[in-house]
Amino acid sequence: MISNSITAEFRSIVGDQWFLDTPEDLAVYSYDGFLLEFNPDGVIIPGNRDEIAKIMGVANRERINIIPRGAGTNICGSSVARKGGIIMAFHRLNKILEVDAESMCAVVQPGVVNADLQKDVARYGLMYPPDPASMFVCTIGGNVALNAGGPRGVKYGVTRDYLLGLEVVLPTGEVIRTGGKTLKNVSGFDLTRLMCGSEGTLGIFTEIIVRLVPLAPAKATLQATYSNLDDAATTVSAIIGSGIIPTTLELIDRTVLDVISNYGGARFSEEAQALLLIEVDGEEILVETQGKRIEAFCRERGAVEVERASTPEEADKLWQARRTAFGAVASLRPNCIVEDATVPVKMLPAMIRKIVEITDKYDLRIGILAHAGDGNLHPLIMTDLRDKEEMARVDKGLEELFEAAIGMGGTLSGEHGIGIAKDRFMSMEFSQTSIDLMRGIKRVFDPNNILNPGSFL
Ligand SMILES: Cc1cc2nc3c(=O)[nH]c(=O)nc-3n(C[C@H](O)[C@H](O)[C@H](O)COP(=O)(O)OP(=O)(O)OC[C@H]3O[C@@H](n4cnc5c(N)ncnc54)[C@H](O)[C@@H]3O)c2cc1C
Repeated sequence: MISNSITAEFRSIVGDQWFLDTPEDLAVYSYDGFLLEFNPDGVIIPGNRDEIAKIMGVANRERINIIPRGAGTNICGSSVARKGGIIMAFHRLNKILEVDAESMCAVVQPGVVNADLQKDVARYGLMYPPDPASMFVCTIGGNVALNAGGPRGVKYGVTRDYLLGLEVVLPTGEVIRTGGKTLKNVSGFDLTRLMCGSEGTLGIFTEIIVRLVPLAPAKATLQATYSNLDDAATTVSAIIGSGIIPTTLELIDRTVLDVISNYGGARFSEEAQALLLIEVDGEEILVETQGKRIEAFCRERGAVEVERASTPEEADKLWQARRTAFGAVASLRPNCIVEDATVPVKMLPAMIRKIVEITDKYDLRIGILAHAGDGNLHPLIMTDLRDKEEMARVDKGLEELFEAAIGMGGTLSGEHGIGIAKDRFMSMEFSQTSIDLMRGIKRVFDPNNILNPGSFL
């Protein structure tokens, strides 16, 4: 519990209406996409950097936990008050401050929604490539804190690859700037990159500078249907191994197709056991040749049908269906655990076989969705957290899944982060020395451990 006098101090910084503490308000902020509930002591919604610095000054002095939060869509439980404290929300800080078309970058506030930035920069013929499937709601601040990726990651990479600089309020209330508008910057330690993926534990981003690229003049969307999941998986590694880098290369298995087929009007053949959703972009001539080569690859490797979206609306329908997959699958059972194990792309077929094996071995219901072109798998485990016996099987399955991924040279998380969802598996991927180093870094930034404590480290 936070005393009335401290609450009054917070209220005086942001204004009464921007500090929430009714039971209804607290309930709204008690969970995120990971769905474990922890009631916060309050919610504060600052309007500018100086207010944030003052809030952190008070919080640091009084040892009050602050948990930064964008749209709360993360699926690793990294924006909840696991150890109590105050949620800091950024929806008032939602302005695109500048689009510098000549320097090909934009300066934004943390609460800007990803899709709004994409739409805005398109007016200048530019693109902000990171495109999480949650892009219509998630914020750039949340994207930076989790180093989010998306389908376009195969060709364009992840948030880190577009992050040029930050303004950050430290847990102590001090303000720093890292990086800047230049593409090249090798001065000092790379604090910008350290912040990227720090899961709201090192500092609060108040301004974000991102790199933009020219919007591709043409693109083509293909859909390849397979009667065998393994054929689809081997096509992915074959395409990437051949040196063609599509913009996106998504894999969806039968279980997920069944669920999404009624969303957004997309229809999939009854015989399909797996589907690859592939996009190429660039100059028209390149799109044509790459599209044809990919189509030939798919057919050679057993695709029973390869179709090309004939209009942008048709392509949109396919993507809309893909983007609804998490939500659609989540409706099947009380809970859906979205995993994120990632392997080198050559190992994708082996990892998919492993997931099928784990599904049978532990008698689980798992659908497979993958940003397959970069080896990033999302096994969707449909389950019921209240069923202890089933959850014990889920836990064993997860452990085996991560051991396999790491054994194949992969990682616990390709884009969703660690949070409270996977902190117990960290020692599979990191030595004690590495974990101690990370804890040491956290102590330097946050000596009183008040910023998002209990998440990830
Ligand atoms: C349907 C669905 C599809 C998804 N698809 C993808 C996908 O394709 N790729 C992908 O990578 N993820 C995906 N996600 C996960 C999620 O959307 C991303 O992790 C996203 O980056 C979270 O953004 P957010 O605004 O919701 O942040 P939140 O969930 O609110 O917070 C995420 C983290 O950022 C921190 N944070 C937020 N703002 C700040 C700030 N200003 N300063 C410091 N720290 C801050 C929080 O403390 C927390 O640790 C998906 C989620 C859903 C529900």
